[in-house]
Amino acid sequence: MSVWRPPERFAHFKVPASLVLDTFCYLNDGEELESIAYWAGKVDGTDALVTRLVKPRAIRDERFVIVPVEEVSRAVNECAAVGDFLVAQIHTHPQDEDHSETDDCGTVSKRNGFVSLVVPFYGRYSSLTKPFWFGYELMNGEWREFEMSRVHVLY
Ligand SMILES: [Zn+2]
Repeated sequence: MSVWRPPERFAHFKVPASLVLDTFCYLNDGEELESIAYWAGKVDGTDALVTRLVKPRAIRDERFVIVPVEEVSRAVNECAAVGDFLVAQIHTHPQDEDHSETDDCGTVSKRNGFVSLVVPFYGRYSSLTKPFWFGYELMNGEWREFEMSRVHVLY
């Protein structure tokens, strides 16, 4: 018996506009604290189709956000129950900064093709029509720069 795994690389990440909107609203809650969400979804041909915004309980600080391990398991189990999987994580930074060392090590998934998006300035300058974000994609334990044009917002 083998465990099902998502493909190691998705061509595109299709995300409904309403879900992108929900993501920014959730991340930018007016607090001077980092925040985090996950995108869960399904395989759609060579693409990933994001279908669900996951809001994990997190420990938030001005300069970091941590999801406790038991909350990570809860989110992963929820995916298994619903029949989707974690496509990406998305979290805010106080400034326009790269992935930190904590980000590199602390991401929820270690699978190839997992994407980590960062939204600078606590999400305050990001909107659906003008998203201000960048990302990384995990490949064999290494974070590579992610071309944001691979995210396709579905209207
Ligand atoms: Zn970070």
